[in-house]
Amino acid sequence: MEGNCAYCFKYRPLMKSHAIPRAAFKAMLAGKGNAIGIPYGDGNAHLTSDSGDAPLLCDLCEQQFNRDFDGPLTNALKSLENEILVNGFRGSITFDSDQLAHSIVSIAWRICQSPAHMYSEVNLSGIHRAELDRLMRLPSKRILQDCTVRIGRLSDGRPVGSGGFDQKLMNQFIKAPEAHSIRLKPHRKAKHFAMDWTMFGFLIHLVVPRLPYAKRKEFGGLKSKTTRIRAMPVDIFKYRPVVDALVAGYAAKEDGRLSPSLKKRETRKSKG
Ligand SMILES: [Zn+2]
Repeated sequence: MEGNCAYCFKYRPLMKSHAIPRAAFKAMLAGKGNAIGIPYGDGNAHLTSDSGDAPLLCDLCEQQFNRDFDGPLTNALKSLENEILVNGFRGSITFDSDQLAHSIVSIAWRICQSPAHMYSEVNLSGIHRAELDRLMRLPSKRILQDCTVRIGRLSDGRPVGSGGFDQKLMNQFIKAPEAHSIRLKPHRKAKHFAMDWTMFGFLIHLVVPRLPYAKRKEFGGLKSKTTRIRAMPVDIFKYRPVVDALVAGYAAKEDGRLSPSLKKRETRKSKG
């Protein structure tokens, strides 16, 4: 399919671009090639091989995004996950915070530009779209001056022995991206917007423009020009939007409200 590349605007053959890197979906059910999609209304959890790809970028831009953003980000989050599995939430990695933030902004930008069905819940206003587009095109070292990026690690406060989810399972949770507008004070106009989604067991937040200092301290988030990256734990049963999405999926699973292909997989698993 040919069209105008969303990044360089040239009329070219368009690649089937991913917004959230394909590796995140692969990590979700290693080897099986399917992720458990959280239902959006039909009440049934279902296996999905949809990784949200759609014609978006030309070959050159696709390569550039993979090299500059997706590759490094995927490696960083996988390393951070390993550190957390070994050392708990003290675990950290060495990575350029500005590059990490830019990679996350590039995913948010692709989510907003992508015609893929998976991202149909994300509808920014024209002003917010323009703001995100401007942000995307800034040099990496400028990114964190204009937005707040936070990396949270999904966690379950309940002990594994009493039914809590093991930390190793966190990368199987999928919460589709959503966008919200944020009012910092009551009766003020909502100037900020936020996007959140999960990948590799992390809950990613992007807030634009950058939160003011006091709010930022409370919220947490990447600091510019640092190389020590940590993720703050986010309890999946205390963070409302995640609870709604995740629990819907798990409840369907517990109740046996599974689509036929997922049932087959469950049977295979219990036999093996
Ligand atoms: Zn292009």
